[in-house]
Amino acid sequence: MSGYYTIHDPHIERVLLTEEDIAEICSSIGARITEDYRGKDLVLVALLRGGLVFLADVCRHIELDLTLDFMAISSYGSGEAVRIVKDLDDDIRGKHVLVVEDLVDTGLTLHYILSVLSGRSPASVAVCTLLDRRARRIADVPIAYRGLEIPDVFVVGYGLDLGGRYRNLPYVAVVRDEVMG
Ligand code: 5GP
Ligand code: MG
Repeated sequence: MSGYYTIHDPHIERVLLTEEDIAEICSSIGARITEDYRGKDLVLVALLRGGLVFLADVCRHIELDLTLDFMAISSYGSGEAVRIVKDLDDDIRGKHVLVVEDLVDTGLTLHYILSVLSGRSPASVAVCTLLDRRARRIADVPIAYRGLEIPDVFVVGYGLDLGGRYRNLPYVAVVRDEVMG
C-alpha cells in the first residue's frame, strides 16, 4: 500500500478492500462479462457519481466492442421524490444494458433505475456492483455481477464519498462509527 494520505485520516478506521483486491475483482468480473456478452450490443451505464471509478476500471477488462453512458438520480433520504438528474445520452432500445454501481444498499436506487431503463425496450438490463450490503436491503434487485458482500459498516473510497470527499481513494475503507454518529 502506498503512503496515501487518508490512511492517517482521523475519519478512517481501516481498509476493507485494497487496490490489489479491487484489481482482482475488476479482472475477474471483466472476464465474465466478456464471455456473457460476446456477440451482443453492450452498453455500460455508470450511476454518477460513485459508479464512475468502478466503471473506468472494469470496462478495461471487457474485451468487447461496447459503449459507455452515464446517469444520475437524486438520492433517497432527502425527503423528496427520486428523479433523474442526468439522463442517458443515447437510446438503449434493443441494446444489452449493464448498470455499473459502487454499492447496493437498500436497493431503492437500483430498483428505480431498473424500472426506468426496462421501460425503454432494451434487449436486457443487468446489474454489476462492486459492493453489496444485503443487511439493509429493502427492494429485491437482481445482481448479476458482485465484487464483494460487505457487513453493515459505512465505507468510502473508490468512488464512494462522505460529504463529497474520499471518492479518489484507490481503496475502500471503513469510516469510524464516531464520525457517522
Ligand atoms: P441504495 O438505494 O441501494 O440504498 O443506495 C445505494 C447508494 O447509496 C450507493 O450507490 C451509494 O452512493 C450510497 N451509499 C450506500 N451505502 C454507502 C456507504 O457505505 N458509503 C457511501 N459512501 N455511500 C453509500
Ligand atoms: Mg451510488
